[in-house]
Amino acid sequence: MQIYKIITKPIRYILSYLYHGECVFCADETELWHYICDDCKNKISEKEYTAITPNGFLCLSAFEYREQFKNSVLRFKFGGHREYSRTYASIVFDKYRDRLEHFNPDFITSVPLSEKSFKKRGYNQAELLAKDIAFFCKKPYNKVLSKIRDNEIQHDLNKELRKQNVKNVYEVISGTEISGKRIIICDDIITTGWTLNECAESLKAAGADDVLCITAAKTPLPH
Ligand SMILES: [Zn+2]
Repeated sequence: MQIYKIITKPIRYILSYLYHGECVFCADETELWHYICDDCKNKISEKEYTAITPNGFLCLSAFEYREQFKNSVLRFKFGGHREYSRTYASIVFDKYRDRLEHFNPDFITSVPLSEKSFKKRGYNQAELLAKDIAFFCKKPYNKVLSKIRDNEIQHDLNKELRKQNVKNVYEVISGTEISGKRIIICDDIITTGWTLNECAESLKAAGADDVLCITAAKTPLPH
C-alpha cells in the first residue's frame, strides 16, 4: 500500500496540472491549460498589493484576501490544493518581475511551520509557494528557518498580542549560509506583518544583507 502511494503520488500531481480545467479562485470551468478564468484575471489585474511590515520590510502580494481569492487560499491551506502555489507564484512573478530582478535574491525561503503543525497538515503551504517563486526566479530554495515552539494562531489574536506571540519563535538553522545574502521569504497571507517581520529580523540578525517578503494574499486594510 505504501509503495502504491509513493508511485502514484507524483503521477497524480502531474495529472492535476495537465487536466486542470478549473479556476483556482472561483472554481468555474476554464479552458484546458488555463488556471484562472477571465473574470478572476480581470479582478487581479495589474494592481500591486504591497505592505510594509512593522520594522519596514517590503511585502509583495499576488492578490487581496477577500471573496473568491480568500476561498482559494483556504482550499490551498486546508483543502489539500497544493498545486495552487504554481498559479499564485506565476501571478507574483508576472506582476513584480522588475522588482524581483532588481532585488536579485541569492535564494528563496519560507516561514516555517512547527513540526507538530507540519505533521498534522502534511505540507507547509508557505514552502510550496517559496519553491514555485524559486522556480520562476531561477534561484535556489533553501530551508534556513525553523519554528522552535508552537504558539497561538495569529488570526485569533489582536494586534498587540500578535507581536508578542511571534517573539523568539523562529530560529536560523545552524550551519546555513545567511551572512551577506539577499533573501526572499514567503508566506501565504500577510495581515499585520508580525510573523514575516520576526522571520526577517532573525535573518538580518544572522547577517542577511537584505530581506524581501512575498505572500499569495494580503488582508485588505479595514475601512
Ligand atoms: Zn475564476
